[in-house]
Amino acid sequence: MEQISTINWAYMHFALIFAITCAQMLVVYTLAESSKPPAGLGLYTVYFMASLLGWIALTLQQNSGVEMGVDLPSVIAILNGFILFMAAGQRGGIVAGRALLGALCLAACLCVFFLPAKTMFLVEALGLALFFAAAGLLSGWRGWRQRNVGDGIIASAALLMTVAMPVASYYVLAESNSPRAESIAFGAHTVAYTLVVMGFLASVLIEYQQHLSHLATEDTLTRLLNRRGLEDALQVSMAHAQRHELPTSAIMVDIDHFKQVNDSFSNETGDHVIRLVADVISRVCRSSDVVARTGGEEFLVILPDTDLNAARVLAERIRQAVGERPLLVDFQRIAVTISLGVASSNGHVDLDSLALEAERALYLAKHGGRNRVASVEPRRVHLSNTASRNTMA
Ligand code: GH3
Ligand code: MG
Ligand code: MG
Repeated sequence: MEQISTINWAYMHFALIFAITCAQMLVVYTLAESSKPPAGLGLYTVYFMASLLGWIALTLQQNSGVEMGVDLPSVIAILNGFILFMAAGQRGGIVAGRALLGALCLAACLCVFFLPAKTMFLVEALGLALFFAAAGLLSGWRGWRQRNVGDGIIASAALLMTVAMPVASYYVLAESNSPRAESIAFGAHTVAYTLVVMGFLASVLIEYQQHLSHLATEDTLTRLLNRRGLEDALQVSMAHAQRHELPTSAIMVDIDHFKQVNDSFSNETGDHVIRLVADVISRVCRSSDVVARTGGEEFLVILPDTDLNAARVLAERIRQAVGERPLLVDFQRIAVTISLGVASSNGHVDLDSLALEAERALYLAKHGGRNRVASVEPRRVHLSNTASRNTMA
């Protein structure tokens, strides 16, 4: 096979960059159409468009011999570095440093009218190193916080530029080797740009995947687990209970006469009441207990390593805590009460039958007059009275 000429390598390189950018623009356009576009999409779109312009300007300058009055590719590269910093900030929800870096970006761009090409290269290299370092910090921080490797890839692109641009400057300053400096800058820019494209796509994909898995296991109104999330969360403790023959209890909670709240006030007030009860249950329970919203105004609490008596005490505490937290709507006090059913099992836990037992106890609490705790054992039924809290067999 014959050697491919340098100019052909250059064309292949630019074709690759154009193809990546055009594909990215298509993806970005599709994402913008979605009902919930990802954070930072706006400025990342500007970054990809500006990059496309930059690559076109560079292609014209390098390959077609078009005379440019000013070093347009340098100006676009500086602007791109700043836009990437802004985009990383928008995606991470941080606006700090924009004014300062914006002023530096403007000053660096204006230098193109006054400085010779060699000095302008230094301004461009150091400006880019600064902007990419700032963008890298923001992306790295977001990647670490959100456990999103996509932002980590963007941070690695930024790190590459932050190291490569001062190295390129060194070749200009210390060794007066401009061609090598430009090769380093050009190569680093290409790799960093490709990494940003891939990092952004990965970041958005991972974010959607995280969102979907949350939706599958989390209740959106209360942020508690849903039934599936409850099963996932209990896998370890249920195996532990079986191995060590430990008791596990369940409390089923249902808001009393909730339909009346919706009918007398509004569905929003109803939602508010559901959130309030969820909040009270979460606060009263221990961190090892698992709380889930399993129906409209129903909650299921699973208490690992807890026997029936201890569960009854906790259920009573939840009942009292909800009663002590009246809701004020338009200066009107809505008294919310709940009924609770408690059941327990030893060793092996079948979540479905334990929940069913707790539901049976809840049914007894409702029929006993509501605003009370009832519990079931294999043979005996306990029903506590609100006032006396006696139990009856
Ligand atoms: P009981 O004391 O017997 O439990 O009576 P209840 O009115 O609480 O029970 P019922 O099951 O008849 O009514 C439950 C109501 O909860 C009916 C439904 O419209 C309402 N609901 C279910 N999910 C939601 C929700 O997410 N938000 C609101 N606001 N209401 C809901
Ligand atoms: Mg109810
Ligand atoms: Mg109900």
